[in-house]
Amino acid sequence: MKAMILPRIVSLDEVPAPLELAELPLPEPGPDEVRVRIAACGVCHTELDEIEGRTAPPKLPIVLGHEIVGHVDKLGQRASKHSVGDRVGVGWVHSSSGDIHENISPEFRATGRDANGGYAQYMTVPESYAYPVPDEFTDAQAAPLLCAGAIGHRALKLTQIEDGEPLGLTGFGASGHLTLQLARHRFPNSPIYVFARDEAVRAFASDLGAVWTGDTEERGPAPLQAIIDTTPAWKPVVEALANLRPGGRLVINAIRKEDRDREELLRLNYHDHLWMEREIKSVANITRYDIEEFLPLAAAVPLKPKVEVYALEDANRALVELKRGGAQGAKVLSMTQ
Ligand SMILES: [Zn+2]
Repeated sequence: MKAMILPRIVSLDEVPAPLELAELPLPEPGPDEVRVRIAACGVCHTELDEIEGRTAPPKLPIVLGHEIVGHVDKLGQRASKHSVGDRVGVGWVHSSSGDIHENISPEFRATGRDANGGYAQYMTVPESYAYPVPDEFTDAQAAPLLCAGAIGHRALKLTQIEDGEPLGLTGFGASGHLTLQLARHRFPNSPIYVFARDEAVRAFASDLGAVWTGDTEERGPAPLQAIIDTTPAWKPVVEALANLRPGGRLVINAIRKEDRDREELLRLNYHDHLWMEREIKSVANITRYDIEEFLPLAAAVPLKPKVEVYALEDANRALVELKRGGAQGAKVLSMTQ
């Protein structure tokens, strides 16, 4: 099968084509696994963290990618949850302890980091970590739901906001554009503010229903009950804390932060950023239950994922463009074109 493999950890600024096209043997499913013939795989910011070593794969080479949509192609001996031909999705959790805290379990293994992922024509996964994909979505539209959307759902739950309380999103990429739509559905009376550097991205957020948009360091017209941060940087964290109400909560939805602007943290001032019982909560990984709960919800809203499609062989270009920023919606690799 064709796959784009990561042979070594590099800086994307120095090596703009870190992945190599390779021919790999067709993977065989283990007894409790299914093999998926991949139709589409989303491109997530976490791939940049894997390539650049902030969350390095323990073994190389590895096939990245954890927003997978495809069809079950072969069942392991004991696998019975899906049938051959079923359309399924696979997310960041490849296997774990199986309880509701499996996202923070030491047993957590990530798709595309600890096991081969979706930048390929086929992959294998334990059957419990493959989920039916609602018919409402095309393969490419469904792909970003598996991480960007599902982790946005988890982040939104962790904000603990109630309908009517004002919500902020700082950073507005693949996850932000889905989380905004989900938040408007779940909390129709909550005004949503979006903080983003790029003007076109802010206009996109307004089109999706943000009542106010501004640059990262701007102050919104009123303080917010909760803000979800999906940026790779520190400045938005400091600025978001200053935009919170007393008792407000900042939810940081990123597996790793880049350290380029770490000195921004020295601006942290107890009175302006932390006092008045402001809280910071990080989102770690995801459980199978988050994804199982989210996919039918995404169809019920229905979410409208905006996707830009690339051929598998163009994965490097997609990653470089993702790192550059300014894109509207999600990037997806298609294995069928
Ligand atoms: Zn992801």
